[in-house]
Amino acid sequence: MKAPKAPTNFIRDIIDEDIRTGKNGGRVHTRFPPEPNGYLHIGHAKSICLNFGIARDYNGKFNLRFDDTNPEKEEQEYVDSIIEDVRWLGADFEDRIFYGSDYFEQMYQWAVALIKKGKAYVCDLTAAEVSETRGTLDKPGRDSPYRNRGVEENLDLFARMRQGEFPDGSKTLRAKIDMRSPNLNLRDPIMYRIVHADHHRQGSQWCIYPTYDWAHGLEDSIEGITHSLCTLEFENHRPLYDWFLDELGIYHPQQIEFARLNLSHTVLSKRRLLELVQKKIVSGWDDPRMPTISGLRRRGYTPSSIRAFCDTIGVAKFNSTIDLVVLENSIREELNKTAPRVMAVLDPLKVVITNYPEDKTEEMEAVNNPEDPSGGSRRVPFSRELYIEREDFREVPPPKFFRLAPGKEVRLRYGYFIKCEKAVQDPKTGRIVELHCTHDPTTRGGNNPPDGRKVKGTIHWVSARHAFCAEVRLYDVLFTKKDPSDVEDGKDYLSNLNPKSLEVIPSAYLEPSLKGARPGERFQFERTGYFFVDPVDSAPGRPVFNRIVTLRDSWEKIEKSQKA
Ligand code: ATP
Ligand code: MG
Repeated sequence: MKAPKAPTNFIRDIIDEDIRTGKNGGRVHTRFPPEPNGYLHIGHAKSICLNFGIARDYNGKFNLRFDDTNPEKEEQEYVDSIIEDVRWLGADFEDRIFYGSDYFEQMYQWAVALIKKGKAYVCDLTAAEVSETRGTLDKPGRDSPYRNRGVEENLDLFARMRQGEFPDGSKTLRAKIDMRSPNLNLRDPIMYRIVHADHHRQGSQWCIYPTYDWAHGLEDSIEGITHSLCTLEFENHRPLYDWFLDELGIYHPQQIEFARLNLSHTVLSKRRLLELVQKKIVSGWDDPRMPTISGLRRRGYTPSSIRAFCDTIGVAKFNSTIDLVVLENSIREELNKTAPRVMAVLDPLKVVITNYPEDKTEEMEAVNNPEDPSGGSRRVPFSRELYIEREDFREVPPPKFFRLAPGKEVRLRYGYFIKCEKAVQDPKTGRIVELHCTHDPTTRGGNNPPDGRKVKGTIHWVSARHAFCAEVRLYDVLFTKKDPSDVEDGKDYLSNLNPKSLEVIPSAYLEPSLKGARPGERFQFERTGYFFVDPVDSAPGRPVFNRIVTLRDSWEKIEKSQKA
């Protein structure tokens, strides 16, 4: 599939200029470098779409590379999920899956080269001492007492670090740069730590592990990456990225920073997402409320809607928060055109059509999708007893309520005009349990009657006798506040959890055509939203429906009406 070219941005401007000046021989090669310590989220999708989109549009290459340099938090499960998610998004890395850990030996040799140049040394300070002597933004750091160890001693100690002679945390290898640099990242940063832990890929081969700053540029260089795109937090790390590559004199990719995605009502940090999973606040990484790729997939988002979202938000150099509505609109826009429309009643109120024969059934013709001329139509059974949505009836209708009320007439979509003659109450609770209505036989199919009478409201319905019952799950935001980190003193983001983020309807009434709904299919339930047949919890003949989004955004409307 040839995707349309993504909108331009400041990174593409840089690449255009590099191509014009013949830098890298006109070559473009990007990568997506996740650390396999969690599942990918929508922020990662932004980075994937950016990197892959550039490679695609400039006839370049795109690598998937695991930055797997920290053995303690990384797992094969995460590697597998990341591969699945990147593929699902349509970012084709062909056969180019790489692992930073596969370069450990080369990295080690380069560290030895820096030691030989007098640019790296083994330091015996503890972690606390290192941070204590590092200084602050307005206070210079102090040299480590081990800073002037000779090359031979450093080479010997570093080799013995690798051999496993020293306990965790007892020594580090540090770059010898400048303890007085205004950039704290250049104050003799750590290159290797001793960690006696098995690596998901390297097993027990290593007990020294490289830091991100040391490893990342080397990984980029080895793979011939031309433009190494990362988020703004790394802007202050760029001088270090450059320093390592320049001191080694190896191929030097260009690091370019862009703003990370923040999304309202959502947390996008793997640490927090892991906490939600571990504390069982959600059912797993793929819980449909999670902003993970696997959660969005299970909620019913399509890869194309996520790519469209990434194109819409663009790429900039300053941080901002995107409203969740923008993401929701991306799937609404797509499903408006592609999802067949069906009728389903989520919160039922029974309607008896008193002037309709008891044993009669009519098959009403219903259009599958008015937006899709090739979508065809289907037949929906109509009978004397129906369900409608409880909220489509009001005993005392407020102004501009055009649905059912005593004495009022409404159109049943593809059905008839019906008029409410009587609302039957439960004598004990006062709750309305049933409506008695009459229908106008001249309005068959929901068409206007010959007398030219009009009604303003159209509602959906399901024939009671023919209804198919299924579980429907309604989701809301996981966090009630736009910024979940906005908390009172002493509380954390979990205090902003939305207690009503999931509502399960064990038995909604659906039109019978949905009996055949298969996992992975998407529908519009007229007036109540877009739904996805859950691929995990559905069984043959027993679909479970996830609401992806409502048809229109309710907060958007609420906010507008509050402003007005
Ligand atoms: P988190 O902050 O969620 O733990 P991370 O940055 O530690 O994520 P990595 O696995 O290191 O996760 O990220 C892989 C790539 O995805 C990096 O290049 C990173 O810059 C990018 N990335 C991560 N989060 C976002 C985000 N919110 N928006 C855009 N890009 C992101
Ligand atoms: Mg990271």
